[in-house]
Amino acid sequence: MMQALVISDIHANLVALDGVLADAGEMGFDEVWCLGDVVGYGPDPNACIERLANLAVPLTCVAGNHDWAVLGRMDDEDFNPEARRAIEWTRAQLTASSRRWLENLPELPLQRGSCTLTHGSPRNPIYEYILTPSVALANFAYFKTPYCLVGHTHLPVIYYLPEDDREGHLSCRALAPSLEYQIALAGPHRLILNPGSVGQPRDGDPRASYALFDVDEEIWTYRRLAYSFETTQARMRAADLPERLIARLAYGW
Ligand code: ZN
Repeated sequence: MMQALVISDIHANLVALDGVLADAGEMGFDEVWCLGDVVGYGPDPNACIERLANLAVPLTCVAGNHDWAVLGRMDDEDFNPEARRAIEWTRAQLTASSRRWLENLPELPLQRGSCTLTHGSPRNPIYEYILTPSVALANFAYFKTPYCLVGHTHLPVIYYLPEDDREGHLSCRALAPSLEYQIALAGPHRLILNPGSVGQPRDGDPRASYALFDVDEEIWTYRRLAYSFETTQARMRAADLPERLIARLAYGW
């Protein structure tokens, strides 16, 4: 049995990341698949990178828009004022080795077995948000595997396309996952799955969101984990990061 821990949008929230690694560790995992945005917003960019760089298991990680922004590969004007301030702060914190690690993250989607891994979408890996079934539908033509794993929206969701919809006549549906929901993925369909965000959930639930994927049995399990967001908030306050970014961690938005 090969178990992959699927995480995304850590956003420099070390308390949440450590919680997720410990929680998933109790169930056991053999690889980590990370869908980008390791940094940006949160108070511990270097420590989060170190955690991922020093895992005891293999890591597959793609680049996210915040990872790129911190490297200066995007126009800071593309971000709202609070996000921009956090990006500038993060840029100033990065060690040389953290910067090198981010620079090596691939832009293009990666394939791992039955899954394609990307940050935003297979069509537009760094930037596109898959927020609706119609956008998801358009993206099924851009990957070859049965499943595509995406992050970026910070919302756990599964988009479902029936196999007989090669021509795209039927509509794609969105399944909002309930907690601890175990899903056998195999079937006459293809799926786009989002594990939600480890470090800044936006679905109204402040708990860290992630997924475990049993690669052999093709079983996907959503997990939510309460962590001390107050600790992350205190560290953000000490770093003088924007109050709105601090407040949102308590609400999950
Ligand atoms: Zn993000």
